[in-house]
Amino acid sequence: MKALIATLAFFFMSIASAQSAGQTRLRCESLKEAWIKKYIPDFSIEPTSLPFSCETPMIRLAVTFADLEVIERSKPYLPVYSRSHSKVGKLVTNRGCNPGAVAWSDTRSLVVLCPAFFQSSREFRTSTLVHEARHLDRDAPLHVKCTRGPHINKEGACDNEISSGPYRGGSYNTDIWVWRALLESNLHDLKKDTLRSLIRDRVPARFNAATETQILEWRNL
Ligand SMILES: [Zn+2]
Repeated sequence: MKALIATLAFFFMSIASAQSAGQTRLRCESLKEAWIKKYIPDFSIEPTSLPFSCETPMIRLAVTFADLEVIERSKPYLPVYSRSHSKVGKLVTNRGCNPGAVAWSDTRSLVVLCPAFFQSSREFRTSTLVHEARHLDRDAPLHVKCTRGPHINKEGACDNEISSGPYRGGSYNTDIWVWRALLESNLHDLKKDTLRSLIRDRVPARFNAATETQILEWRNL
């Protein structure tokens, strides 16, 4: 009897793992199609000859684009895909990256994704493109020198204050509002614990004028 149960358990586990492998393959195929037909032209990704397969880092970028599309279709409404698409004129990888940098943008329309981007979590990656696209807005304030916290005296490592929405204030402000929208959305499968921990780390570390009340409010989301 025990042997039969063990055999049946193995049988059902094999089916489950075959289904899961099948779903992963399907997901990869649909991402590949979107990569070629939509993401490359939308963001003028260069070089377009970069290999794309389920095993290359490019799939992590494709997952991020797909996440941004899902977020844009969810509530609360945030135009994270279309707005980034309209601002970013060219997207390249691993060019002029300082050690440890995740991404950077010039003052016109170029966004560069650095090796650290491809090593960061899916939750973190969702806000990176939106953060860089926000830098391309004419009214976006530049990052400033930190006057407190773990990055104290570091130039360009903080925003001054938390603003009332993702497309106000600096790009660190954009990050926390994107993560907050993801937390409040029930339609997406990003990890809520990871999102909370990103917000809890960022708010006290990256805003010079954040009040204790604001830090508490964001910590308790
Ligand atoms: Zn920035």
